[in-house]
Amino acid sequence: MQENLIIIGSGPAAWTAATYAARANLDPLVFEGEPSGTMIPGGQLMITTDVENYPGFPKGVRGPELMALMRDQAIHFGTRVLSENVKAVDLSLHPFTVHPNYSQPVTALTLIIATGAYAKWLGVPNEERLALTGGGVSACAVCDAALPAYRNQVLAVVGGGDTAMEEALYTTKYASEVLVIHRRDAFRASKVMADRVLSHPKIRVLWNKRVAEVLGMDSITGLRLEDTKTGKLSDVPVGGLFVAIGHTPNTEFLGGQIALTPHGYIKTEPWRTATSVDGVFAAGDVMDDYYRQAITAAGTGCMAALEAERWLAHRGLGESPILETAEAPVHG
Ligand code: NAP
Repeated sequence: MQENLIIIGSGPAAWTAATYAARANLDPLVFEGEPSGTMIPGGQLMITTDVENYPGFPKGVRGPELMALMRDQAIHFGTRVLSENVKAVDLSLHPFTVHPNYSQPVTALTLIIATGAYAKWLGVPNEERLALTGGGVSACAVCDAALPAYRNQVLAVVGGGDTAMEEALYTTKYASEVLVIHRRDAFRASKVMADRVLSHPKIRVLWNKRVAEVLGMDSITGLRLEDTKTGKLSDVPVGGLFVAIGHTPNTEFLGGQIALTPHGYIKTEPWRTATSVDGVFAAGDVMDDYYRQAITAAGTGCMAALEAERWLAHRGLGESPILETAEAPVHG
């Protein structure tokens, strides 16, 4: 059977795209993925405790609850969902072919890739457990640093790139002191960002230090650090840890068939979600290494669904009526 639209992913971008596409009678099929290791369907919000900056929730909302609501909304309008990972796609021929992990390949006229990116973790004892239980370990200061648990505490940020600089500077708004922990004696961040961090009165940099262990039972109490030059161990008390050592977009299954940015994210047309492959659109963190917010992911999900709808309409394909107001698509 041939689908009008297959959406791959299960974060805010995927569910928003599905809701828009379902309401446009495109009868979308979503591959939401399956649990494997630390990856769970629903994306990064599944390991975010309280989301306080998603509009419409004045008292905040739990990350997993927000994702369940978005999923329910998409299903309510007729989205079909398969809880399976996609292991490969064939974009060389149209209709495209999607190869799920277990079921038969499915063809589709359009695709929306919304597979997100995962934050890299240090992989040290207690880190994952305290991140999953809201115990003061996070990979997103912009999402979490304003939460009461992090206020007026000594907070640590690990990393030496631009993300770590941004997270450290942002965290100073809430912390009593910010410790930037870096494994070398120089930042790789841009000079302007590094200079801001180095001159900030609330920030202290601990050079040549590697986090060996996160300390604490129910919530973080400190970090065990190892000096990368001498191997000497020391403990430092902290009330929160932000791991900012980079993100990896989930693009491996695309097998190099779509153009990527120099950082490995899906390249899209400016202010569009159209990719280098005609009829394939990308939304959310898999194409955005700049904003990385749930609300911006949802926004690009909406854009991708509208672009897919218009793409089909301009070709007289699928169920959707030709939109009088539809502007010309980016690709012919
Ligand atoms: P990044 O540039 O790759 O930096 C990652 C940092 O984490 C590096 O300092 C690295 O140390 C450290 N690191 C990596 N693995 C580690 C580990 N296992 N343990 C301890 N430290 C580890 O990543 P990013 O900061 O996320 O930036 C990604 C790209 O986005 C960059 O090109 C950046 O310029 C861009 N970006 C730009 C902005 C902006 O312009 N406002 C903001 C954010 C990101 P080493 O230095 O020793 O390798």
